[in-house]
Amino acid sequence: MKKVIIIGGGASGIMAAISAARKGAGVTLLEHMDRVGKKILSTGNGKCNYTNRVQDKSCYRGENPSFAWPVLKQFGFGDTLKFFLELGIYPKEREGYLYPASGQASSVLDVLRMELSRLSVNVVTGADIKEIKKNQRGFHIETSQSSFHGDACIIACGLKAFPKSGSDGSLFPHIEKLGHTFIDIVPALVQLKAKQSFFKSIAGIRSDISVELYVNQKLIARDRGEVQLTEYGISGIPVFQISRFAARALAENKNTQAVLDFTPYLSMEELKEELNRRFYREGAKKDCEEALIGFFPKKLIPVLLKECEIEIHKNAGILTERELKKLAEEIKYMHITITGTKGFEHAQVCAGGVNTEEINPETLESKLVTGLYFAGEVIDIDGICGGYNLQWAWASGYVAGLHGAE
Ligand SMILES: Cc1cc2nc3c(=O)[nH]c(=O)nc-3n(C[C@H](O)[C@H](O)[C@H](O)COP(=O)(O)OP(=O)(O)OC[C@H]3O[C@@H](n4cnc5c(N)ncnc54)[C@H](O)[C@@H]3O)c2cc1C
Repeated sequence: MKKVIIIGGGASGIMAAISAARKGAGVTLLEHMDRVGKKILSTGNGKCNYTNRVQDKSCYRGENPSFAWPVLKQFGFGDTLKFFLELGIYPKEREGYLYPASGQASSVLDVLRMELSRLSVNVVTGADIKEIKKNQRGFHIETSQSSFHGDACIIACGLKAFPKSGSDGSLFPHIEKLGHTFIDIVPALVQLKAKQSFFKSIAGIRSDISVELYVNQKLIARDRGEVQLTEYGISGIPVFQISRFAARALAENKNTQAVLDFTPYLSMEELKEELNRRFYREGAKKDCEEALIGFFPKKLIPVLLKECEIEIHKNAGILTERELKKLAEEIKYMHITITGTKGFEHAQVCAGGVNTEEINPETLESKLVTGLYFAGEVIDIDGICGGYNLQWAWASGYVAGLHGAE
């Protein structure tokens, strides 16, 4: 019987263990926390968005995003659906996003743990890795608990996102000792900090906003949806979707700006027409603040006016056309200077990881060390928000486990 050792008991490591054990291997899963799958419990706000029906190449990112595709071809959306249905997870779908019908991420972890137990996977928790040695007989892994031997070793230790769930980077020196290199790791799917001090006064606003990211004046990414304005800057799913590019640009000291459009549902012409109506045709007895009530959240109005140097209590009807044009431009193209991201502890995933040039995309075996495999976030692939990161974890875990057991 082939012996497979997996380091890291997150989504990808658990999947790798199941995949290898189903192939008949004797599997040991080493996890340094007191239990496996802690991060799974926090996914999807505790509901676990475990995959997405829409699978497109643009949903996966990295230095070489197409690396993900041979892996996802072996275990795609349909395979995830079937795998979990067989384990007991009845899918509940919302606009392509899949959740367990129980509404509980804990059910996903429960069925995975039941399957690990059914397959007699040896799960060792509290195992701090001291050394990974490769010799002609395979892998010798020294831990705080005991030492283990494997014919194959799968590394599924994640990166640094949400470190309280165990992904703390403690395995990186061992990976480097085996000869592998990393693409710089930055937080992704994370909130962005802004320089402008007015954010303190508009914190708490949630609105349909389009957000564009410019790096050195070049448009890099855009998204639209409910953006949250916070005291430090911007958050919400559209911000998460563009954040990995901002994080990378900031790490490279590049000029990083976001442009917010507070009326993405109106063209510039339609917006100007609406402002004309509010200020000139119906604004005679209103001041500028009053003219905008009902159009924008109340806290936002003084900020928009101040940024255009328009006195808030000035009579709306006497605003010059130049001032009104400036206001329209502020509403459509508010420039925000991005100064940073929130830290790893706030990030849902990281961008970066083990360089995909060093890994075979068909098997996920290292090109440098025979018998060594990688799975999950530790590989330089990150997905957009919406079930793609777990889909990557399941798919890469399946592929690494399958080939590791062969
Ligand atoms: C709050 C939050 C919500 C999320 N929601 C979603 C969602 O709804 N849908 C989605 O698709 N994705 C979501 N994600 C992302 C998704 O959870 C991750 O991409 C995925 O769990 C990564 O799995 P992984 O197994 O590769 O890594 P991890 O889950 O990070 O697991 C790595 C494991 O390795 C262990 N480990 C690390 N170092 C060592 C070591 N030295 N020795 C032994 N063990 C070690 C860790 O303790 C951990 O158990 C969310 C993430 C967060 C933080």
